[in-house]
Amino acid sequence: MINNRTLRRGEDFAAAGLAETEIVDRVAERYAVAVTPLLAGLIDAENEDDPIARQFVPDLRELETAPAERADPIGDHAFSPVKGIVHRYPDRLLLTPLLHCPVYCRFCFRRERVGGAEKALDEAELTAALDYIRAHEEVWEVVITGGDPLMLSPPRLAAMMRALDAIPHVRIIRLHSRIPVADPDRITADLIDALQIDRATVWLAVHCNHEREVSAPASAALRALSRAGIPLLGQTVLLRGVNDKAETLEALFRALVANRVKPYYLHQLDLAAGTDHFRVPVEEGRALMRELRGRVSGVCQPTYILDIPGGHGKVPIGPAYLEEGIVMDWQGGAHDYAPDRR
Ligand code: SF4
Repeated sequence: MINNRTLRRGEDFAAAGLAETEIVDRVAERYAVAVTPLLAGLIDAENEDDPIARQFVPDLRELETAPAERADPIGDHAFSPVKGIVHRYPDRLLLTPLLHCPVYCRFCFRRERVGGAEKALDEAELTAALDYIRAHEEVWEVVITGGDPLMLSPPRLAAMMRALDAIPHVRIIRLHSRIPVADPDRITADLIDALQIDRATVWLAVHCNHEREVSAPASAALRALSRAGIPLLGQTVLLRGVNDKAETLEALFRALVANRVKPYYLHQLDLAAGTDHFRVPVEEGRALMRELRGRVSGVCQPTYILDIPGGHGKVPIGPAYLEEGIVMDWQGGAHDYAPDRR
């Protein structure tokens, strides 16, 4: 039975019929664990392969590390000049004011760091991070991530947004969040007000991996954000047993677009420790992208993207359609296309 509390301990999962106490508690010794009541309620406990359970219910395979996996898969640490900042590209950087989330994904790329409200930046650390942004005039876009920045209280979020808005060279503030699907009741009028600033443009990227996450409350939260004038992007991680079928991705991307969320990235899973059971080979990901091309319009197509291990940035890894004068159509037909040849 699911109650209205976030599931955190083995006994909570056992009482909800989702996992054995000992398994959850063993995994929780190493990685943060939480499932919101809304997401727990979406799980079909009778289905061993439930895609929502697979994303959030701890599994002993998380305690096995494959040879290629690493603690800091995208090299955040190497590009962090001050606490709470990751500055990898000249014109944009990450600001991570906190490292806790409403729910902990079992494949999280920052799983060695997330969890615990005590890991949030204190006032002095946040001031130092903002000073760094002020001092770097080449920074056009600030990506606020974590953890989940919408876990900040509306007054604290508003203060941070105003401080960023007061930095003239910052033109775009992009927040990355799981809250609209994981805990949409937090998308209150006060929180939306906190995102309303005068000068810079605010974007919100929503992490969502399966159509069922777009529940009725999630849909209402997305509409409220969209009505407030905030453009919405969708971020999806390609995951074995969750969304590794073309029809599953199609249903997800249609649901996102119908809720005014533009699918932005389909992420190849990062090499975080204990996530091998979620990994889909790149060739399979490319085949899925090819199949999607014929199934849904361009507005539903994300870019299939790899964050290069070690912190070297993101690159598209989708299928190539035009090579050596031959272009492939969406049905697999080959056609000559060489207008540049003379
Ligand atoms: S919401 Fe994001 S940061 Fe938090 S556990 Fe999931 S993937 Fe990690």
